[in-house]
Amino acid sequence: MDLQAIMQLDATYYMNTFGKRTPVCFTKGEGIYLYDTEGKKYADFLAGIAVSALGHGHKTLTKALHEQVDKLLHTSSLYYIENQAKLAEQIVTHSVADKVFFANSGAEANEGAIKLAKIYFYKKNQTDKTDIITLTNSFHGRTLATVAATGQPKYQKPYKPLTPGFCHVPANDFEALCAAVTDKTAAVMMELVQGESGVRPLDAEYVQKVAALCEEKGILLIVDEIQTGMGRTGKLFCYEHYGIRPDIFTLAKALGGGVPIGALCAKAEIAAGFEPGDHGTTFGGNPLATAAGLAVFQAFSEENIVQNSAEVGAYCKQALEKLKDEFPVIKEVRGLGLMLGVEFAEPVAKQVQAALLDKGFVVGAVGDSILRLAPPLIVTKEQIDSFINNLTAHLATITR
Ligand SMILES: *Cc1c(COP(=O)(O)O)cnc(C)c1O
Repeated sequence: MDLQAIMQLDATYYMNTFGKRTPVCFTKGEGIYLYDTEGKKYADFLAGIAVSALGHGHKTLTKALHEQVDKLLHTSSLYYIENQAKLAEQIVTHSVADKVFFANSGAEANEGAIKLAKIYFYKKNQTDKTDIITLTNSFHGRTLATVAATGQPKYQKPYKPLTPGFCHVPANDFEALCAAVTDKTAAVMMELVQGESGVRPLDAEYVQKVAALCEEKGILLIVDEIQTGMGRTGKLFCYEHYGIRPDIFTLAKALGGGVPIGALCAKAEIAAGFEPGDHGTTFGGNPLATAAGLAVFQAFSEENIVQNSAEVGAYCKQALEKLKDEFPVIKEVRGLGLMLGVEFAEPVAKQVQAALLDKGFVVGAVGDSILRLAPPLIVTKEQIDSFINNLTAHLATITR
């Protein structure tokens, strides 16, 4: 099918939640490269919004999936699932969690985290502990509870009344958080690098103070690692950068390397809040999705992918900082590992994004002034050089 026909079909039959999409349809991928319906090649510097950590068509992942597809797709969680148990083991071995539950998406993993925080106190007969504090400009998902958790009114307005029990405080303002804590506070939930609102890492000192406060007051600390987890920031999990040990954290995006899967991960004492019948899922952690997760962990360990994310991420950030010195239109470069944002002093992000697409580079934009980079974690320094050269050439055309 050609692009025009696909666009026509979409306009006729698909709900208009994504508006006018970028007029491209990718049909094939290999490594960090994507190919569209017209055969044009692109370097993928967005990875399907931080999902395709291994790039496209990675042999470890595709082989594991082919093998699993030929064997068995789904059984339901009424029966034991080998891959599910093994993937849970991988996450626990490499993290501060003791127990894992699999869902199908990020929002669903966060729903599980919210339910777990509530039921943990309910089972301790502290039924008044129902409230959760989150941050302004956060993003936690699109289900009703996660929309209430998300600190951005634009996602909430049409869906009132919102799920009660959430309040939002400005990021990096410890006093504001302290003031929001009440006897009803069950948990504080945060992204350590706010992704959807423009790649904004939280201050380390702030995060450590919040963790200490939670510890002192018996409040659960939930870290949303859906975007920051699985090596994106140069450590397997972003909380490692901050020296904290969350009670609960959630994963999704890169966990399946492109196959939908989410994970709710918790310390043993908290996880014990869920007893048989308290939570569930039909698809979550099925043999196929967990085969994908296992393959991602295998590739990570065989190819030092997290270390590559740290090294190449630092290299890319340094190159962007250099561009900032050269071009005053760049206001700030932010991020950790291969989760990077470039904020412009003017509303040129969409224009830069379009120009890069034209040159064969896929990047993201947040609003009108922030460029967002999240290439596959296998990206090389040479591929970064090529990207920087093209970005430089375009910035030179923006007159000041
Ligand atoms: C993407 C994202 C989500 C939502 O994940 P879905 O799979 O789209 O439901 C939640 N939290 C964060 C931090 C995210 O980046």
